[in-house]
Amino acid sequence: MHELSIAEAIVRIAAAHAGDRRVSKVEVKVGHLRQVVPSALEFAFELVAQGTPVEGATLEMQAVPAAGLCRDCGADTALDAFPLTCARCGGLDLEVTRGEELLVEALELEEALTTTGGTRDDG
Ligand SMILES: [Zn+2]
Repeated sequence: MHELSIAEAIVRIAAAHAGDRRVSKVEVKVGHLRQVVPSALEFAFELVAQGTPVEGATLEMQAVPAAGLCRDCGADTALDAFPLTCARCGGLDLEVTRGEELLVEALELEEALTTTGGTRDDG
């Protein structure tokens, strides 16, 4: 389950940027060729985020379609499925130009909460 290592990377990046604030949302871009199962990544993300400032954050995934350059006919082609083939000539000799991304695109942080250490009694 390679989603776990991807989730670890996402949480590590998010936590590093969050400082002492809590993260409420993480937006990531995941290339199609990473073959990430969204539900598996969400599950792994929740697991890894526990005990970090990222705990409880929403994970928003944006899939990046794959594309490549055909070395046979020079076409810039979309790569939808495996095996990766050129849509124009059916060639298999492709240079992948898109679809291997794994980026933390944006973070949404909650306002820093001031904790005084004292307990309030609203009774
Ligand atoms: Zn081609």
